[in-house]
Amino acid sequence: MPCFTNYTLPELEKWFAENGMKQFRARQVWDWFYLHGADDYDKMLNLPKKVRNFLLNNLSLIQSSVAKIKIAADDSEKSLIILAKDNEFVESVWIPMGSHATVCVSTQVGCPIRCSFCASGAYGLERNLTTGEIVEQVWYSSKAYSRRGIKNLVFMGMGEPFLNYDNLIKAIKILNDENGLKIGARRMTVSTVGILKRIVDFAKDVPQSNLAVSLHATTDELRKELIPGCPSSIAALLSALSEYYKRAHRKITYEYVLLKGINDSLNQAAELSRIIKKIPSKINLIEYNKVDFNDYEAPDRNTVNKFSNYLIKKGIDVAIRRKKGDDINAACGQLRRKQKI
Ligand code: SAH
Repeated sequence: MPCFTNYTLPELEKWFAENGMKQFRARQVWDWFYLHGADDYDKMLNLPKKVRNFLLNNLSLIQSSVAKIKIAADDSEKSLIILAKDNEFVESVWIPMGSHATVCVSTQVGCPIRCSFCASGAYGLERNLTTGEIVEQVWYSSKAYSRRGIKNLVFMGMGEPFLNYDNLIKAIKILNDENGLKIGARRMTVSTVGILKRIVDFAKDVPQSNLAVSLHATTDELRKELIPGCPSSIAALLSALSEYYKRAHRKITYEYVLLKGINDSLNQAAELSRIIKKIPSKINLIEYNKVDFNDYEAPDRNTVNKFSNYLIKKGIDVAIRRKKGDDINAACGQLRRKQKI
């Protein structure tokens, strides 16, 4: 059976018309779902019983549910979401930031890239999420956390978003719809390991959203060691990013996980500054979050600060991404597919 959350509003209107219903009914269901959080056709009181019955039998409303929520000491909340299709799990994280919140969503069940420091790829890739499975992670967050509006949305949960490109782009359109959840395109960030073709497509398809690129190393050799499924050389990545910048005119955010004794030296900072100065950009230095099956360690604060100060002196815009939610394994790289409930 098709599912409501896979459709944009125009697609839904078409589906309603094709199925012999008045087109405006699509908008009514849309409003109930996205504006009022109704999770059941029977709660949609202005729909005639006949329409509700038809929908019940021909269009499922949602395709996932929240199995469990864990709350961290810093108030971040991790939702374990179970997917109706095959009982697989993904995770999403709600991160409070003052009066607003950021939501971090997954795009794949597992991940094929298998970064050596990340838990999400430990069991490889099971499958792509559907558009609706991506949308519902945000919908659940907006419902549960209406006390603090979602301001930012980051596609930085499990999976490589650009390997599930079509479903990702459609989910962005649905989440951005001004008649629905209305999350600003400028408030969305997609993080990729660097799928070259999609970097350029992204500039064309969603030029107002932000692009973050996981760099992590300054030589191809080390990058390949840290990111075994790495799809390109650094040189090819930079040329795709320069094309992206030409088209979208948006600064790129580089991400760089600092690993003790591996990529945290000042020589590497010097090389890094040369690389990232080539295209208008900023960099997020990410503190390594412990994942139990590898031996990496985070550098101490002093090393992080020295690395960061070096880049700042070179005129680079640097932010340090401190741990959030790591006591419940909700921090970057800690989301995983296999769950003990
Ligand atoms: N697949 C996407 C999104 C990954 S999550 C990508 O590769 O860009 C967002 C960031 O967290 C990425 O830069 C990722 O490399 C980083 N990350 C992964 N594991 C981590 C860990 N254990 N500690 C800190 N950051 C991690």
